[in-house]
Amino acid sequence: MQYDVHIIGGGLAGSEAAWQLARRGLRVRLSEMRGTGERSPAHQTDALAELVCSNSFRSDDDEKNAVGLLHHEMRQCGSLVMAAAAKAQVPAGSALAVDRDVFSAEVEAALAAQPTLEIVRERIDRLPDAGLTIIATGPLTAEALAGSIGAATGADSLAFFDAIAPIVYRDSIDMDVCWMASRWDKGETKDYINCPMTKEQYLAFHAGLIAGEKTEFKEWEANTPYFQACMPIEVMAERGVETLRFGPMKPVGLDDPRTASEQFPNGRWPYAVVQLRQDNKLGTIWNMVGFQTKLKHAEQVRLFRTIPGLENAEFARLGGLHRNTFLNSPVLLDRQLRLKTAPHVRFAGQITGCEGYVESAAVGLMTGLMTAAEIAGHDWQAPPRTTAMGALLAHITGDAEAESYQPMNVNFGLFPPPPPEVKKKQRKEAYTARAKADLDLWLPSLVG
Ligand SMILES: Cc1cc2nc3c(=O)[nH]c(=O)nc-3n(C[C@H](O)[C@H](O)[C@H](O)COP(=O)(O)OP(=O)(O)OC[C@H]3O[C@@H](n4cnc5c(N)ncnc54)[C@H](O)[C@@H]3O)c2cc1C
Repeated sequence: MQYDVHIIGGGLAGSEAAWQLARRGLRVRLSEMRGTGERSPAHQTDALAELVCSNSFRSDDDEKNAVGLLHHEMRQCGSLVMAAAAKAQVPAGSALAVDRDVFSAEVEAALAAQPTLEIVRERIDRLPDAGLTIIATGPLTAEALAGSIGAATGADSLAFFDAIAPIVYRDSIDMDVCWMASRWDKGETKDYINCPMTKEQYLAFHAGLIAGEKTEFKEWEANTPYFQACMPIEVMAERGVETLRFGPMKPVGLDDPRTASEQFPNGRWPYAVVQLRQDNKLGTIWNMVGFQTKLKHAEQVRLFRTIPGLENAEFARLGGLHRNTFLNSPVLLDRQLRLKTAPHVRFAGQITGCEGYVESAAVGLMTGLMTAAEIAGHDWQAPPRTTAMGALLAHITGDAEAESYQPMNVNFGLFPPPPPEVKKKQRKEAYTARAKADLDLWLPSLVG
C-alpha cells in the first residue's frame, strides 16, 4: 500500500499516533520490530502498546491531579489508549489501572480494523530520507536506528540514559533559609538557590545517604559503562565523607549573606551547600544540581526534606537513573516536534524526553494531530499552555532548560501559575478548571 505517513514503533506513542491518523482516513504504515523475533530488553510480548512494567496509568482524578487532567484531555481528543484503558480497567481506587493483555489486545484490534492502516512487523535501521515519518521507538530504541538518529542529531544530543535529579516546586522552598547566588558572584544574575548546611547537618545527611534504601539496577542497565558519567549521589557519598563537599555540595565561593559581620561583610561560606537551578522558563520548578540518585522515592522525600530550606519541599519529580534513549528536544525539535534539520521527521513518545505511559501516548496523540493538519494544509494550533497537553508540549519543544534536559512527566509546575489571589489550597482545582475551559475552546481547531 502507498502510504501518507510512516510510523516507526508500535508502542504507546506510535499506536496512538497511528490511530489519530487512520481515523482521519490517512494511509499509515506502522512498523514494529517485535513480531520478527526482535525484542527490546524490557518488552516480553509481540503485542502493540505493551506496558513494560506497572499496569497503571496513575491518577484518574481530573480535578486535582495533572496526569488525571491529561487523561481527560486525551479522552476529549478521541484517544485510543484511553478508550482501550476503559475497556481493560481493573479496580485500583482513584488510579486508572488495566489488565495489560486486554489493554494491548484492544489497541491492536482497533488498529487492525482501520482500512487505511497497515501494521508491518519489521525493524527499521535508518531514518528515512524522505516522506512524512514519525519516530516512536521509545526509551529502548533498537541500536542501528539509534545510531542513525545520533548521526542526524549529533551524538551529544541523543542520550542513552537519564540521570534525573529531584525537581522541587519553587514555592515550596523556604527562602528565609536559602539564598540566591552564583559561585564567586559570577555573572550578572544570582542564578542558584543555595541551601546552607552546618557540619553536623552535613554529616547526618551523608550518613543518611549511605544508609538509605536504594533501587537495584536491572542487569541490562548495570552492565553499561555510561553510568560512570552520571554517578548517583549516594555512590559519591560512599567514596568518602568529603567527596560530596568537593563535588555537588561544594560551598567554596558562596557567601551566605545571613552570616555577614563586620569582619566578613558579605558573609561566610557554609560548611556544605545544596544548590538548585531553574528547570523551566516559567521558573516554577528547580532541580537539585548533581543529585541524581537511585534512592527509593520515599527515602528521597524523607532525606531531602532534612536539607535546610527544603523541610516542606514538594517534589515535581523524584530522582532516578535508567536506560532511556531520548533527544535534547528543546534544541533539536521545532514546536511541532519536527527535527529542525529534517522536518519530514517527527518524534513522539518517550524518545522526545517526556516520561511515562500517559505522557508518551499524549505526545503520540499530538504528533498524529500535527501530521494530519500538515497533510490537510492547515495551520496547526498547539493546545493552550494552560492545558496539560499544551504544557507538556511547550516544555519539550523549547521551554525546558536545554542544558539540564532530562525526561519529565506532566505536573502542575509546567503550567503557568494561576493568579496570585487563588489560595494555595485551591490551586490544583484552579489549574484543572482553567485547562478544561481552554481545551474546550481549542478542540474545534482540530482537523477531521
Ligand atoms: C524498563 C522500563 C519500565 C518502565 N515502566 C514504566 C511504568 O511502570 N510506568 C510508566 O508510566 N512508564 C514506564 N516506563 C516509561 C515509558 O512510559 C514507557 O517506556 C512507554 O512504553 C514509552 O512509550 P513509547 O511509545 O515512547 O515507547 P514504547 O512503548 O517502548 O514503544 C516503542 C516501540 O518501538 C519499537 N521499536 C524500537 N526500535 C525499533 C525499530 N528500530 N524499528 C521498529 N520498531 C522499533 C519497540 O519494540 C516498541 O514496541 C518504563 C520504561 C522502561 C524502559
